[in-house]
Amino acid sequence: MTTTNIDPVLERNRAFAAAGGHEGAVVFPNLRLFVITCLDPRVDPAHFLGLELSDAIVVRNVGGRVTPEVINDVAFLGQIVETVLPDGPLFEVAVIQHTQCGAGALADDTFRRRYADRIGADESTLRAHAVVDPAQTVKSDVERLRSAPAIPARITVSGHVYDVVTGLVQPILRADRVPARPTL
Ligand SMILES: [Zn+2]
Repeated sequence: MTTTNIDPVLERNRAFAAAGGHEGAVVFPNLRLFVITCLDPRVDPAHFLGLELSDAIVVRNVGGRVTPEVINDVAFLGQIVETVLPDGPLFEVAVIQHTQCGAGALADDTFRRRYADRIGADESTLRAHAVVDPAQTVKSDVERLRSAPAIPARITVSGHVYDVVTGLVQPILRADRVPARPTL
């Protein structure tokens, strides 16, 4: 039988299951954290944030951008959690973009036009998906998420930049404080 790329990790999976690594996992994230970050293999939050199983919900895409699909994912989780928690904060969404991001390629006119043709997208829209200065794009993405009508006000949003050279995460925007519950 020929070996394919998945085989080595299937072996690791059997060891994981045999050691009971999956036991005790819960569906509601222990840290009440929803991480949006890049799919770059250097930027795996299980490693650079030390996330354990069930610690956080993680969505990864090109650039770690707040796309309409990501907004819908946050809204979906918000709708589930707000039925469980009738008041108080629900969870924090941390948008984490990074230095040396490959999404910077979308700033290149030739690359962007070819990619737009390939996926049938509008080229001018794709320009906004480039990550050249992550401190800037993360700010605009946090604002996009905070102002999205689908996102419950009890969800807080923060923005950060992960430096792939130093390994450090720099907070750019802290999560808004959730208003205190009115006293009755
Ligand atoms: Zn990236």
